Amino acid sequence: MIAPRRASVGVRIGAVTVGGGRPVVVQSMTNTDTADVEATVRQVGELAAAGSEIVRVTVNTDEAAAAVPRIRERLLAAGCGVPLVGDFHFNGHKLLAAHPGCAEALDKLRINPGNVGRGSKRDPQFAAMIETACRHRKPVRIGVNWGSLDQDLLTRMMDENSRLPEPQDALEVLREATVVSALASAARAEELGLPHDAIVISSKVSGVQDLIAIYRQLAARCDYPLHLGLTEAGMGAKGVVSSTAAIAVLLQEGIGDTIRVSLTPQPGGDRTEEVRIAQEILQSLGLRAFLPRVVACPGCGRTTSSYFQELAQRIQEHVRRRMPDWQRSFSGVETMTVAVMGCVVNGPGESKHANIGISLPGSGERPVAPVYEDGEKTVTLKGERIAEDFQELVERYVVRHFAPREG
Ligand code: SF4
Repeated sequence: MIAPRRASVGVRIGAVTVGGGRPVVVQSMTNTDTADVEATVRQVGELAAAGSEIVRVTVNTDEAAAAVPRIRERLLAAGCGVPLVGDFHFNGHKLLAAHPGCAEALDKLRINPGNVGRGSKRDPQFAAMIETACRHRKPVRIGVNWGSLDQDLLTRMMDENSRLPEPQDALEVLREATVVSALASAARAEELGLPHDAIVISSKVSGVQDLIAIYRQLAARCDYPLHLGLTEAGMGAKGVVSSTAAIAVLLQEGIGDTIRVSLTPQPGGDRTEEVRIAQEILQSLGLRAFLPRVVACPGCGRTTSSYFQELAQRIQEHVRRRMPDWQRSFSGVETMTVAVMGCVVNGPGESKHANIGISLPGSGERPVAPVYEDGEKTVTLKGERIAEDFQELVERYVVRHFAPREG
C-alpha cells in the first residue's frame, strides 16, 4: 500500500501549488541557451504541451537574464502560462541586481547554496538573492547538489566527525552534509525574511540509495515541500531506470511533492521525453492519471511476426495523439485502460479487465481478433484493417463512456 503523503506546507509557484497535500507536480528544464529567446520559448512551449507543470531555465549570463522577461511575454502571448523558474549559480546575486525585470518575470528562483560564493562572500551573496526574492514576493527552491556541496560545511563536518570517539563512515557524513546544507540554508532564508511557505527544498545526488537515505532524513526533519530527482541520471535506459527506482521508492513512502527526471537526451533527441517518463512514474504508482493506460503483453514465441509489435505501437501512438482532443472534450478519459494482447493465452482475460481490449491472433491461431468492452465480447475483427477498426472502436468507446466537458 502506498503511504499517505507526508504533510508539507503548500508553496505557490505561479498558478501551481507544490506541497500542502496537492497532487505531485511534474517539472522539467530547458537545455537551450536562455539568451536565445526564440529557441527557449519554443522548448518551454513544447515541455508545457507535453505536460510539464513547471519549467526551469538556466540564468547564467547578462544576456540570459535580460531575455527572461521577453521569454515570459512571448509565452503569455502564445497562451502559455506555465510557471518559469530561474536557475542561478555563482553570479545570481549580480544578475538579479542588474536585471530586476528577470526576477519579476520568474515564478520561482532556484538557489544552490553550494554555488553562491566562497568564504566571506557566501553569506552576503546568498542574502542578496533571498532579499531579491522577498522584494519580488517570489518563492525559492533551495537546491543542494552533491556535486556542488558547500565545501566549507563539508570540511567542517568531516573534521568534527574525525574527532569523535567512533567516527561515522565518510559516506554518512556526506549524506548528512547535504541535508544540513539544505535545512540550514532554508533556516537562514527565513531569518532574512523569506516566508516559511515560500521555500521548496531539494538535495539531489546521483546514487539511488544515497537519494533515498537523504530524502528520508529531509522528510523527517522539515515540512517544506520536497522536489525529488536524481541528478546526472544518465542516458537512455540507465537514466530512466535509476530515476524511476529512486523516485518511486520515495513516492511510495509518501515523500515528494514535485519531481523531475533528469535525462541526458540523445544528440538531437526530444527533451519532452523527461516529462513523459515523470508522468509514467506517477501514473504507474496510481498517484495521478495523465493518459489512458495501454496494457500490452510483451509478446513471445506465439507472436513470431512483427505484426503484433507494430499494432501495439500504432494503438499506443494513436492514444497519445488523440489524448489532447479527448482531454479537451471528455472528462475522466485519462483513467481509461486499453489492452492490446498477443494471443489467446492471456488475451481474452486481460482484455476483459480493461475498458476496451483486443486479443490478437497468435501464430497458428485463426486470424481473428475478439474485442472486449467492459468485460463483454462485443465484436470480432479480421482482415487487413484490424488496427484501424480497433482505433475506431476506441474512439466510439470514448464518446459513449466519458461525459462531455462543459463549455
Ligand atoms: S498473451 Fe500470448 S503472445 Fe502475449 S506474452 Fe502471453 S502468451 Fe505470449
